[in-house]
This record gives sequence, structure tokens and C-alpha cells, in this order.
Amino acid sequence: MVRTIVGANWGDEGKGKITDMLAAESDIVVRFQGGANAGHTIINDYGRFALHLLPSGVCSPNVVNVIGPGVALDIEAFLREMGEVVAQGVPQPKILVSERVQVLMPYHVALDCYEEERLGKNSFGSTKSGIAPFYGDKYQKIGLQLCQLYYPEVLREKLAHALDIKNALMTHLYHKEPIDLDALIEKMTGLAERIRPYVADTDAYLMQAIREGKNILLEGQLGTLRDPDHGIYPMVTSSSPLAGYAPVGAGVPVWSIKEIIAVTKAYSSCVGAGPFTTELFGDEAEELRKRGGDRGEYGAKTGRPRRVGWFDCVATRYGCEMQGATQVALTNMDVLGYLDEIPVCVAYECDGERIERFPVTPKLEKCTPVYVTLPGWKCDTRGIKEFDRMPENARRYVEFLEKQIGCPIKMVSNGPRREEMMYR
Ligand code: GDP
Repeated sequence: MVRTIVGANWGDEGKGKITDMLAAESDIVVRFQGGANAGHTIINDYGRFALHLLPSGVCSPNVVNVIGPGVALDIEAFLREMGEVVAQGVPQPKILVSERVQVLMPYHVALDCYEEERLGKNSFGSTKSGIAPFYGDKYQKIGLQLCQLYYPEVLREKLAHALDIKNALMTHLYHKEPIDLDALIEKMTGLAERIRPYVADTDAYLMQAIREGKNILLEGQLGTLRDPDHGIYPMVTSSSPLAGYAPVGAGVPVWSIKEIIAVTKAYSSCVGAGPFTTELFGDEAEELRKRGGDRGEYGAKTGRPRRVGWFDCVATRYGCEMQGATQVALTNMDVLGYLDEIPVCVAYECDGERIERFPVTPKLEKCTPVYVTLPGWKCDTRGIKEFDRMPENARRYVEFLEKQIGCPIKMVSNGPRREEMMYR
């Protein structure tokens, strides 16, 4: 059976924990999009890990982890992260990297940084990992697939062609030194050799696994609202984090996907720029930020303080709908135990009009939240293992969100650790 785990909101919903937890009962975990630009935090018996590029199954020794063709493969980041995981005591993970995956080049990172610098205050809040230039090149057809690195003539020809364009930008737009072709070829050839043991025809591997009835998890990065088509364009990421893209980016048939788990937090958090209707500021925000997640709400990749706010039913209903969620996992329930009462956004107001459907970006920018206030439960719920034993107001809170979102909340996470999970 194939299951997909995706984010319903702006990312950082706690997908890493859910994947790590479900990985323990899976055979294969696949990353299908994005690159080393975001992070999943997982906490288990080996310790705490901020994974950026590696699939979240790396801490489960029986799992085969796959980097699918839809990913942006930064080979150095891949090797570095693998080294870090093993250094923390995890047995050498089993990893297969698609021979079709495209390779993120050093110039993608450089151009990402220079462009953000050039844009100044109008920048997109990029993590400067080279993701936007990478996907730009992929669709402009001047990217390189990993397999091409093993054909020296192909590598030289393709890189020479790409550098004609990149060096024009480097020197004329950004006033930097041009990139040397021979040095780049040498570097990429060296990296290709180091990653060679992991390279495979992952499409064939996954197809065979599906025929054998293996359990496969497809793991998304970020969330619906960062999708280039359905998110808050242009404050989006450059590959689709939607479950609809998962079969393409992973390399599995559409019909194989049986479950889509959309993850959302019991409040909202958002890293990076863009309209965020329920955003909190000042002391109220600081309090929630400090208490959120496992160590406060700070980006796993950048360490930037995350923007935080109340739960947004409008955004999450849309987020789950666009994901095609079959169920929802609600995380960070334990975080809200300190509040007397909890506002929940049930609609937006825009130019005097009440709307319940998540609007296009220019309209969203003018929206203000319409809240209803629910009573808090004023106690620490960590350690409670069954949903029925949760305080009544906490149960009511979840039931209220479920009704608003229109999709069953089957998992409620009550702490950052793998085993802190309640099922409904
Ligand atoms: P991802 O990118 O969706 O995997 O999300 P992140 O891992 O970046 O952010 C989620 C944060 O919430 C991390 O700090 C997790 O350790 C933490 N977390 C996940 N579930 C829970 C939970 O139920 N309670 C608490 N307190 N923290 C959680």
C-alpha cells in the first residue's frame, strides 16, 4: 500500500514526526520534491535530527529510503547529512537515489544568494539553497540528471552550455567572477563518484515493491500554501508539495496511492514571507513561539523565528481539500494547554464581505480573520495516551476543527516524540 504524507498549510506542520512514526511500520520511504531547503525535526531513541534532504525513514533500520526524481539533489548536502546521521549512532541507512533526479549545482546556490541580495527588501525570503534557480533550469531544460554525470562528454557539453548563460548573469547582472568550466567538471565528477553506490533505477525498484505489496510512504516537504499553482504565489516554493504531484516526483503509478495524510498544527506557524491572516505579534506571539514545537518555533533549516498565529480553518480546509486528504493528523496539541481561551479563525473578512473560501493572493492580502473563541483546558496533556482521556475542552477543540476542516482527524499528536500519539 502506498501512503502520502503532506502538509496542509505553510510547512513545518510536524510531517517529520508522523513520517518517522509511520516509517517504523513501512518498507520504503520516498522523498518526491524539494531539496535541502526545508527541514523535518524528528526525535526518537537515537536523538534529535533536523533532516533536510534525507527521507525521514533513515532512523528506521529496516526501511529503504528513496530520493525520487522530483527532488533537487544537492550531492554535498546529501553526503554531509548522511555522515551526521551515522555520527549520531544511527546504523548506516539504506538509501537509493534515482538516476533521473536532477543535480543541484554550486551555481544554483550562488545565483539564489545573489538574486536575493539584488532584490533586497523585495526578496522572496528564499532559504538560499538554490532551489528556485534549480527548478528554473530543470524546466528550461538546462539542468543535469544525475545519470548524465557518468558520461564525461555529455557532462562537458551540458555544463559548457549552461555556463554560457550562468556566466553572463554572474558577470553582467551580479558583477561577480565567472565560473570555471574545468574546475566545475572536476568537482562534479568527484561528487558523482562518491554518490555512485546509491544510484539506482528507483522507478523499477518501486514498481516491483508495489507488485509485492510492500508498504511505501511518500513524504512531502512544505505544504499546500507553498504550492506554485495553488499556494500564495509568488511566495511559494518551486516544486509542488501536493499529493497530486507525489506519484510523478516519486515515480509510482497514481492508482497505487491509497491514503493521503494531511498534517496540520493545532495553531498556525509559517516561515518566510507572504500573507498570514491569523498572525500574532508582540507578547502573545512570543509566548506561543516559545512554547511551540519541541524547542520553540524556530526554522529547522534557518533557525529563523517562525511566524505564529491561531488555527486557520479557512486555510486548512482549503489546504486539505487541495491535497485530497483522506485523513488529518493534528500535531502540537500539548502546546495549547497554557491558554484560558483559544481563538480559532472560521472565516475571513475582505472589504466588508465574509468569505469562507481561501482566496487568491491579492485578495488574501486584504483579509482579516473572523474568530470564534473556544475555552482552553488549562493543563499539561503530555503523557496522555488515549484521546478519550484528554480534557473535555481539548476534545471539543479537536471536534470543532474537524467539523470546520471537513476531513476526519484520525491522529492527534501530544508531544514531539515518536510514541506521543493518540488515535481516533
Ligand atoms: P515538518 O517540516 O512538517 O516535519 O515540521 P518540523 O519538524 O519542521 O516542525 C515541527 C516541530 O514540531 C518540530 O519541532 C517537532 O519536533 C515538533 N512537534 C511535532 N509534533 C509535536 C507535538 O505533538 N508536540 C510538540 N510539542 N511538538 C511537536
